[in-house]
Amino acid sequence: MRRTVQLLARAWSRLPLPVGRAVMVIGYHRVDERTDNMTVRPATFNAQMAWLDEDRASLPVLSIDVVAMHAAAWPHRACVVTIDDAWADVHTHALPILAARHIPATLYVPSGLLGTGEHMTPTQVRECLAAGVSIGAHTRTHADLRRSNDAALESELRGCREDLEDLVGVPVTSLAYPFGHLDSRVRTAAHAAGYATALTTRRGWARPGGDPLRVPRNIIEDFEMPAFRAAVHGGLNILQAAEAMRGNP
Ligand SMILES: [Zn+2]
Repeated sequence: MRRTVQLLARAWSRLPLPVGRAVMVIGYHRVDERTDNMTVRPATFNAQMAWLDEDRASLPVLSIDVVAMHAAAWPHRACVVTIDDAWADVHTHALPILAARHIPATLYVPSGLLGTGEHMTPTQVRECLAAGVSIGAHTRTHADLRRSNDAALESELRGCREDLEDLVGVPVTSLAYPFGHLDSRVRTAAHAAGYATALTTRRGWARPGGDPLRVPRNIIEDFEMPAFRAAVHGGLNILQAAEAMRGNP
């Protein structure tokens, strides 16, 4: 499947790019020596970040805050790097690469899971911030928010933001919906809880005038460089229709 995806991405990316301003938000989960579709190997991650770093003149790498800016302030093109779940392997393998290349990534942290299982400790999250990585919220317990009652929704959204702000001492204004799942009630609650941006896992370009609380994003796998370059130029958007039919929001 992965090879098919890579070939599709390369083919689709040869089609014309969007007219006008557009930002590609890419997402990672784990960076480790494993082979599954949630993990990118450290050498692959290094190669991908090196390419983004070296191509900055034509494709700036910006913070997620760009998608909340007024349309007139958007760049023509940009890439945004995000990492979900705060796995400890990201602290071990990805953080040194991001710091060395000054890539302005955002780490989306499930505040109630820190220090459990293979997640980072609270100290490791603070070290990410100190190394230049922004901290975003990923709820307290990584809940499917569509199934949370109103009290739980408040705890998962506002509670996570407050947990993280207490931990790192700076405002937390961006959210990634766990599993990418949301509906209009969840989106309204995210707005009420104080988030300026919120990320889905629905593929596509972020465009001026789009909803900053339903930002499209392309999850990156352990791709070879041609497929990664294609993905950053919209090549994975071809999968959007098929995933929408399977119920991926
Ligand atoms: Zn997650």
